[in-house]
Amino acid sequence: MGKKDEVSNRFLQAIEFRGINRRDFLKYCGVTAALIGLSELHAPKIAATLEKAAKRPPVIWLNFASCSGCTEAFIKASYPTAADVILDILSVNYNETIMAASGNQVEEVLAQNRKAGGYILIVEGGVPTKKEFGMIGGKEMLEVLKEMAGPAVAVVAIGSCATDGGVPAAKPNPAKIIGTEAALATLGIKKPLINLDRCAQNPDYLVGVVVNYLLLKKLPELDKLGRPMMYYGQSIHDNCERRAHFDGGRFVEKFGTKEESLQYCLYKVGCKGPMTYSACPKIQDNGHTSWCVKAGAPCLGCAERGWTDKFAGFYEPLPGVEIPGRGGVEAGADKIGAVAAVATAAGIAIHAVATKASGRTKGKDGGEK
Ligand code: SF4
Repeated sequence: MGKKDEVSNRFLQAIEFRGINRRDFLKYCGVTAALIGLSELHAPKIAATLEKAAKRPPVIWLNFASCSGCTEAFIKASYPTAADVILDILSVNYNETIMAASGNQVEEVLAQNRKAGGYILIVEGGVPTKKEFGMIGGKEMLEVLKEMAGPAVAVVAIGSCATDGGVPAAKPNPAKIIGTEAALATLGIKKPLINLDRCAQNPDYLVGVVVNYLLLKKLPELDKLGRPMMYYGQSIHDNCERRAHFDGGRFVEKFGTKEESLQYCLYKVGCKGPMTYSACPKIQDNGHTSWCVKAGAPCLGCAERGWTDKFAGFYEPLPGVEIPGRGGVEAGADKIGAVAAVATAAGIAIHAVATKASGRTKGKDGGEK
């Protein structure tokens, strides 16, 4: 038996140990192919790549100021879970939320990995910069980041708390929490950084980044906020299943109404989908079964920077987005139903304004940047 076959067999035994059979594993690879923009025909290639990932890259997963919802989403997804697959592709050496050890034992794990270096650092949670507002093992979280980011080969900021502070950094932000990118800049540390904005993060985004790297040997194309274009290149509004209702002027005006039961557009009850860029409608959560709007909740815009303050109140229509010639969103949305054909143009106009507001422009290939 060749070395590659041995590695492949070890991988298959490992996933079987977790109760995943080969058929389900291939199915998962098919879904993953779609997540990174490939045809499902690439599933066997992805399976082979994962099986032959001879040396599992080490990962250190730090938890700072957050609810640990991204870790929860990671370990409690559908079958097979992202964790099932990731834990067999990567060597997650440290994640204090899910590891059994504690105290000096885990401090030792961190010290050993720091010395060895060469790991991928995943950061979950914002970084408090006010003294004694966020400490681990007697050290400031900023100090822990400094120690662990230095020897890392790359950093992944998972969830909106990690990218810009998220919920813990909402006004008045007493702990002066900042995101990973800002914290690294404060510390003068330069590392390749991937930002995975969302609250909580969908674990499939992380799987896609890892598989993309193993398959293509490079990091995915990023937008100007350091987010993979394959997940953040289009707005939620662009792919929303309720978009026809928006274009047709059919809105939920109030919860508990007939319009709500008919699953009309949630724009008037606060949906931030027109200004939010994420693949939520395409990938969906909980094993690709549902997402916020499908479940009847307006998008809160949690994949956008500063969303907690920028998009509050969450159940108010987006301010400042004008439908040309209609005197503002509210006026425009009221009139849209009467002239559905013009409304389609209005929807496109909203997208254009949102695109401008988010700073995206068209790239040479016509894709948004
Ligand atoms: Fe969907 Fe929200 Fe856009 Fe309506 S406003 S189409 S619910 S994303």
